[in-house]
Amino acid sequence: MITLSSDFECGNGKNFEKVADNHFRMEVVADKQTGYCGQFCFDVRNDGPAAEVVVEVWEDSRFGGPTNYFACFPTTVWVRPHGLHRFYPLDRSRLQVNEQQRHLVLRLPVAEGQTLRVSQGYLAPYSEICDYLRRFADKRPDRCELFSLGQSVQGREILGLRCGTAGKPKVFCIAGQHPHEFAGMWGMIAIADFMSSLLPQAAALREQIEVHVVPTVNPDGNVMGRSAFNAEDLDMYLAFGDNPDAEQPEAHESKILWRWVTENKPALWVNFHCYTGWKTNSEYPYDGWYEVADYDLFEDPGQRRLYEAICDTMRLETDAPSTHERASIHPQSTLCHQMAKRLGIPHAFYELNLATAGPHGSARRGLNVFKQVVNTLLYMLQETDGTADCR
Ligand SMILES: [Zn+2]
Repeated sequence: MITLSSDFECGNGKNFEKVADNHFRMEVVADKQTGYCGQFCFDVRNDGPAAEVVVEVWEDSRFGGPTNYFACFPTTVWVRPHGLHRFYPLDRSRLQVNEQQRHLVLRLPVAEGQTLRVSQGYLAPYSEICDYLRRFADKRPDRCELFSLGQSVQGREILGLRCGTAGKPKVFCIAGQHPHEFAGMWGMIAIADFMSSLLPQAAALREQIEVHVVPTVNPDGNVMGRSAFNAEDLDMYLAFGDNPDAEQPEAHESKILWRWVTENKPALWVNFHCYTGWKTNSEYPYDGWYEVADYDLFEDPGQRRLYEAICDTMRLETDAPSTHERASIHPQSTLCHQMAKRLGIPHAFYELNLATAGPHGSARRGLNVFKQVVNTLLYMLQETDGTADCR
């Protein structure tokens, strides 16, 4: 017998229905009608002999009209038989996009007695991310320590890793505002791994900066399999909602982030998000980056110049231009915009692509962003001190 389920950490799928033998239909659970409506993650369990299981994945019908579901496709669909330690891409020939009838058709080979996990992104479940951080802290107590930003709405720790020297410029690194953007979280795990590693460059950086890495700032959304929201149905990216001038952002976890930033005044904040697929994108690997619309938002000329240097770095030293070949612009309601405006804090906001980045691709591209922007930050800080040299 074949059964489908999404009842597990990061699971996303509903209205499972058997259409014929080895043929099923389901809907994704979307958070918004536009964007954030393509995420799915489900298990196919096969208690019988080996079979090809056809699963139609339909857009969420709850909006009573079409969503922009198809903006996500084509993309890589990742699969993992239970018991295997990694996902791998489903062969492209097994994925058909039926735009007219508004669904995907997946033809999944499921071995006898096998359970196959099928996901739109290479999963980074909150529990696994926490395990990584705890392992780093356990094995490398001389180089890093665990910390928590606080607890989510549902009481989960918003766990992070701290590395480096107290009193040095702070670099605050986060991902997972949008909880299904797993590649960003894998990028953050790589930064935590690197900064607590024995690599000479990491050892030197631990002397020069203090880094806080929080890979999953929206743990409830991650565990619930959501695409955009936290447990309060709020978007942590558009943190100030319809009121960019509000004293505080809306979501509980955004308030925690805002408080931390206000109290700790990081020299730089690094924020990873993700695109999905490559439908109208330009060049592989389809990454991207965001800036504020006008650098004059930074009141202080020194901070404005630092931000310009960070943006130069994003444009010239990373894969980011490959999607749109220019920066996307942060709306005023984002933490990035408001931190720039109210606190003069610059950001490096990078979009990995879920289609081209599992843990390794995310690590390579995310670490590159981190190393390059930190290098620029240190140079600019020295320049401010009058001690910069040309390296
Ligand atoms: Zn996002």
